[in-house]
Amino acid sequence: MDDGITQRAAKTELNNEEFTRYSRHLIMPEVTIEGQRRLKAARVLCIGAGGLGSPAALYLAAGGVGTIGLIEFDEVDLTNLQRQILHGTKDVGRKKLESAGERLRDLNPHTNLELHDCRFTGANAQDLVERYDIVVDGSDNFSTRYLSNDVCVWARKPNVYGSVFRFDGQSTVFAPHLGGPCYRCMFPEPPPAGTVPNCAEAGVLGILPGIIGMIQATEAIKLILGLGDSLLGRLLLFDALKMKFREFNLRRDPQCPVCGENPTITSPIDYEEFCNMSTDSTGVAATAIPTISVHELKQRIDGKTPTIILDVREPFEYEIARIENSILIPLDELPDRLNELNQETEIVALCHGGVRSARAVEFLRGSGFARAINLAGGIDAWASEIDSEMPRY
Ligand SMILES: [Zn+2]
Repeated sequence: MDDGITQRAAKTELNNEEFTRYSRHLIMPEVTIEGQRRLKAARVLCIGAGGLGSPAALYLAAGGVGTIGLIEFDEVDLTNLQRQILHGTKDVGRKKLESAGERLRDLNPHTNLELHDCRFTGANAQDLVERYDIVVDGSDNFSTRYLSNDVCVWARKPNVYGSVFRFDGQSTVFAPHLGGPCYRCMFPEPPPAGTVPNCAEAGVLGILPGIIGMIQATEAIKLILGLGDSLLGRLLLFDALKMKFREFNLRRDPQCPVCGENPTITSPIDYEEFCNMSTDSTGVAATAIPTISVHELKQRIDGKTPTIILDVREPFEYEIARIENSILIPLDELPDRLNELNQETEIVALCHGGVRSARAVEFLRGSGFARAINLAGGIDAWASEIDSEMPRY
């Protein structure tokens, strides 16, 4: 790729400490001092310092990428540590940016860190992306992915994509200006809100984002060095259970509204509306489905208001934590077990974070249960706000 990196690399020097630090790179004829100067001159923006951003940023810094921008607004939560290896136990409750900055500075003091303590939004995305050569998208939601895609297409910056779900991961490089497709060529429309559970809802094997984030970092480093074949135009799928990589060719869609021949989207849109979701702290899709809070449910229980508490999670989840007197009917069994529920009584459906139960409520209402409502935030909100003794998972 080219660009500013070549010009900046020509003016970049390495000191003796750096020669030693990067010696395993420098002795490779494909890298040498020239390549290491390119790495030092390069500017990479990592969106998110979570599961994907952690390994990506660590290896980019270790390998000598000169400037790493990190954009992150969140704080370290105990549930993060199973996979977000930038952060440690002592960091729980701290800003992720602080702990990430500390760790990365310790790893490589030559890396210039640009820490952006904010959300990545339509208002700041273009300004941010313009300042970097490559974007590594470690976000975990559709609206951010569409936003980072669109902005990278407009700014002609490669966008290294990764996503993980349970035991599966995927990665590719979007760069229409280099001849590849963009995210919208692959997914023109987001899935309907609530139909794709997120990692908080469905879980993820902790090492999965490690593998995919490192693939993203590998692709970024290859792009900087101009080495090998990138994932441009190829979607790489990883299945940890089968321990198999597969790949699919991706094609550019000439009708793509962003990178196509006659683009119809040329500036940021309302991505949350487009993806029909809210960005509340639980990441739960907000739809038109009637909802109550965990506090309202507590009041109903305390006031002995007749309410059926319907838990639609799986039995093993119910075993970990449950609300007293709740009925367990896993979501996929619900259609066959409607006769166990009373249409006249209010039904509060819950799951882990509120996504599956939103689907349950939608289904119940369509089946004549007009008093079905969703518990916002699910059992996780209950554990954090009502019952501090309850285990969280
Ligand atoms: Zn496209």
